[in-house]
Amino acid sequence: MGYETTGIIFNTQKFSIHDGDGMRTLIFMKGCPLRCLWCSNPESQNPQVEIMDVKSNCIGCGKCMTLCENHAVKEGTFDIDREVCTRCGVCAEKCYANAKKLTGKQVTVREMMKLIEKDRIFYTNSGGGVTIGGGEPLMQREFVETLLQTCRNSNIHTAIETCGYGEWDEVKGVFEAADQIFFDLKAMDSQLHRKLTGVGNERILQNASRLAALARTDKDLIFRIPLVPGCNDSLENVEQTGSFVSSLEGNGGRISIEILPYHNLGENKYRWLSRDYPLPKLEKPSKEKVEEYKELLRKNCRHVI
Ligand code: SF4
Ligand code: SF4
Repeated sequence: MGYETTGIIFNTQKFSIHDGDGMRTLIFMKGCPLRCLWCSNPESQNPQVEIMDVKSNCIGCGKCMTLCENHAVKEGTFDIDREVCTRCGVCAEKCYANAKKLTGKQVTVREMMKLIEKDRIFYTNSGGGVTIGGGEPLMQREFVETLLQTCRNSNIHTAIETCGYGEWDEVKGVFEAADQIFFDLKAMDSQLHRKLTGVGNERILQNASRLAALARTDKDLIFRIPLVPGCNDSLENVEQTGSFVSSLEGNGGRISIEILPYHNLGENKYRWLSRDYPLPKLEKPSKEKVEEYKELLRKNCRHVI
């Protein structure tokens, strides 16, 4: 573990005012063990690099087809045959219309620190820092833990966004290295959780409990319910989540809970990856409904954001 440790990211975003305090640099890791039906970053799920095909940008020059040695680009439509494509990225490199785009690149901790350090003044002035999300940071533990530690050694505040899935002994180090942790609780019933995300929630809830004990004094732990209509927005689920979180508050740490209302901003990206959007058309939860659920949470939880 050191400055040359590598990880695969699919995006970075500077000057964000979301996902942590103050002004932040967001780093999005590639790869996730879950497949949430509402995922707004489908390009984050596969741990390997992928080609996004933004048809609306295509000017029909045909360069991708000529350059593809694997004959993976179809004549006329310039669609990619994903069974044949090796994700070499040659077409994306030469597509000046930005229609074929490579998503995912390998970076070192050193490169990320160079990017992060550029905005130190903004973190200092705003009480901000760095947030690592994804995808799932726990899937690239060595890289993420090293980056978090390096930030900490440089007095830069850190946060991670996680689904909480992983072997405790393997992921504990990442939790220990982060100052603030945003931890998703998607459904309290394990069968429903499996239906919505592809995995049961036993390990996640166990990690949440262990983390709450670990975070007793020196961490902000924020549990999040991504509220998705028709999926996990029953009163029962929200109430059970509130009870679970309130049972962890006894540990004495800085624990809070918030609701993230569903949005469908990532829908186009499924098309660009030649995938179907997994959900039917859904109405976003209204402000009133979100407020109603917050009131419900306040019955049990001390800090509802
Ligand atoms: S190189 Fe880009 S713009 Fe040209 S045909 Fe291929 S996808 Fe379209
Ligand atoms: S990524 Fe490589 S193999 Fe895939 S379509 Fe582009 S040039 Fe062909």
